[in-house]
Amino acid sequence: MKHVVIGAGQAGAALVAKLRSLDAEAEITLLGSEPVPPYQRPPLSKKYLMGEMELERLYLRPARFYEEQRIDLRTSATVARIDRDAQEVELEGGERLPYDRLALTTGSRPRLLPAGIGGDLGRVYPVRSLEHIDAMVHEFAEGARCLIVGGGYIGLEAAAVAASRGLKVTLVEAMDRILQRVASVETSNYFRTLHQGHGVEIREGTGLVRLTGEGDVTGADLSDGSTLDVDFVLVGIGILPEDDLAAAAGLTIENGIAVDAQCRTSDPAIFAAGDCASFPWQEGARIRLESVPNAIDQAEVAAANMAGGEEDYVAVPWFWSDQFDVKLQIAGLNTGHDRTVLRPGARPGAQSVWYYRGDRLVALDAMNEPRAYMIGKRLIDAGRSIPPETAADANADLKALL
Ligand code: FAD
Repeated sequence: MKHVVIGAGQAGAALVAKLRSLDAEAEITLLGSEPVPPYQRPPLSKKYLMGEMELERLYLRPARFYEEQRIDLRTSATVARIDRDAQEVELEGGERLPYDRLALTTGSRPRLLPAGIGGDLGRVYPVRSLEHIDAMVHEFAEGARCLIVGGGYIGLEAAAVAASRGLKVTLVEAMDRILQRVASVETSNYFRTLHQGHGVEIREGTGLVRLTGEGDVTGADLSDGSTLDVDFVLVGIGILPEDDLAAAAGLTIENGIAVDAQCRTSDPAIFAAGDCASFPWQEGARIRLESVPNAIDQAEVAAANMAGGEEDYVAVPWFWSDQFDVKLQIAGLNTGHDRTVLRPGARPGAQSVWYYRGDRLVALDAMNEPRAYMIGKRLIDAGRSIPPETAADANADLKALL
């Protein structure tokens, strides 16, 4: 059996390792555009950007792993086309590789600022890949003026690193509040206060009109009529699923590459997993998750089914973010919640936000509260709830409720 996997990132690496553990004989090829072996992205906006983590530690496995496991890892190998009739993929440069089963783990690409508003100026950086981070790292000199466009997790994490390294940081968010798309008012308030306490200037409800400069960016015009002088700009305005190859091959696309519960695309010989794939979720809805746990777990189910299994992927969403000395842990998905309660934590700076839909606990944000996170996650994963009043009561012993 010939297995080809396109995309050597978090999901691709998990997929090929699982495939090998299930089938000692299969031919396995992992194709990745980037010049390096698969690596973890979360430290890119955290410890690696901070200069506290070495390159080697970013790699998910040492390069020898792929040799030992007889996995043909090809870096700097971009797939240009999938020929479904011939069951072949074509690399840029024309080489063709046959497959019996194909997996797409192509991840996502950052939304970029349009060139028409200065997105093509020098010293404007997206925050997605090792190459992006290595290109910007020299900018992190004490006193440099950094503008961050976008108040989601990536923008806030980068802001925390920049402020910790002594830069003058301004973050603009076009929506009314930071994290508006993903978190409650309470969680936004918590992180706004945290960042302001470290000197980050947060400007909410303020869009970027255009970046200015000749060659390199030197300034920014904002929607409130003000202008900023800047030395460089980081852009964290979201990502788009990398589904162009799949679309060109005629696979069904629905907010990314549509797969069934078994991670199969509309072509039964082709699977997909990770950031690029949308899958069936509760009540007939379809979701796409952008997280490491999803990439790994979904890829392992895809591998099992490529090897002849019949497993369903049952997502148990969780996520984390590190900003300054705060660890945020998120369990569940808060989409469709109609109520939140705030639970004060045991120590200053610790708290958790519990999201309910009707009486059902659907998600939890825990800030420096690993115990609340652990208990909330176990409840959510088991489909259980506790009354909102109990969650909000700092004296209630949650563990007893398990
Ligand atoms: P990726 O890891 O992006 O891998 C996809 C790979 O496919 C890429 O290497 C790409 O070059 C390659 N590729 C695409 N097209 C082709 C082609 N045609 N041919 C060959 N190769 C191709 N998640 C968390 O859970 N917690 C965090 O704290 C967190 N922090 C993050 C911080 C940053 C800065 C970033 C960028 C992401 C973060 N994430 C975090 C998200 C997480 O890293 C992603 O969800 C995860 O990497 C998705 O894995 P993937 O394999 O689907 O995609």
